[in-house]
Amino acid sequence: MKKVILITGSSKGIGAATAIKAASQGYSVCVNHLDDADSAKCVVEKIRHQGGSAIAVAADVSQEAEVERLFKTIDNELGTLTALVNNAGILEQITRVDQMDMARLNRIFGTNITGYFLCAREAIKRMSSKYNGAGGAIVNVSSIASRLGSAGVYVDYAASKGAIDTFTIGISQEVANENIRVNCVRPGFIYTDIHASGGEPNRVDRLKDSLPMRRGGQPDEVANPIMWLLSDEASYVTGSFIDVAGGK
Ligand code: NAD
Repeated sequence: MKKVILITGSSKGIGAATAIKAASQGYSVCVNHLDDADSAKCVVEKIRHQGGSAIAVAADVSQEAEVERLFKTIDNELGTLTALVNNAGILEQITRVDQMDMARLNRIFGTNITGYFLCAREAIKRMSSKYNGAGGAIVNVSSIASRLGSAGVYVDYAASKGAIDTFTIGISQEVANENIRVNCVRPGFIYTDIHASGGEPNRVDRLKDSLPMRRGGQPDEVANPIMWLLSDEASYVTGSFIDVAGGK
């Protein structure tokens, strides 16, 4: 069976590392992104240079019509989806809850929660035996912030990841008998650009000595467990969580 994967938010960071790894394992890859088209193009070019197949599709996962367009593009250009990595996530400037306005909360919850629901919905319609699909696997990228709470920095982000943990448990049970496995990885402090949007680009280096392993993680070190969870080697694993956080 042809392997087709969508990795949301894969123009850089953890998503890009996962896209490149997926292509090396024979997946045709949809590199979704928001606005950084040049970075997405680089990921696609790298995959094609290595003999793989990939397309880049700009689509805001928090917008229903854009998600529907994204999945229709995959249907037409790559074929039937067999794997989804719900990865696109954002955080905003470090602040306390008493300083968070409604617009910020809507942005965080829209991308980090609603986006995961919308993409999973469209994936299930293509994978589930209930819809005559051939099955598939989904990995949700949460965060260890879901169990730490991120007090004083971004409780909104941590709470959105808590929702994804619960979402993983519920949805995995809904589709367990429909030939779809759903699992979750929870990264800790990983070297990517996301920390700059919180206003602290060097956050990982500042905090690394507080971690049991005394170092931050690399995007590849998150991509590996994501790809394992999607693989047949994890055929009896669903509703499970892998923390990728250097012991935190
Ligand atoms: P990143 O900032 O490097 O990349 C984010 C990606 O998401 C980009 O490709 C961007 O275009 C895309 N994106 C953002 N909003 C989008 C939207 N509305 N629609 C479509 N695409 C959108 O981030 P990262 O650090 O690689 O994070 C990836 C995931 O890992 C996120 O869910 C994040 O919460 C999670 N995570 C990261 C860390 C870390 O330390 N980096 C830790 C825990 C969890």
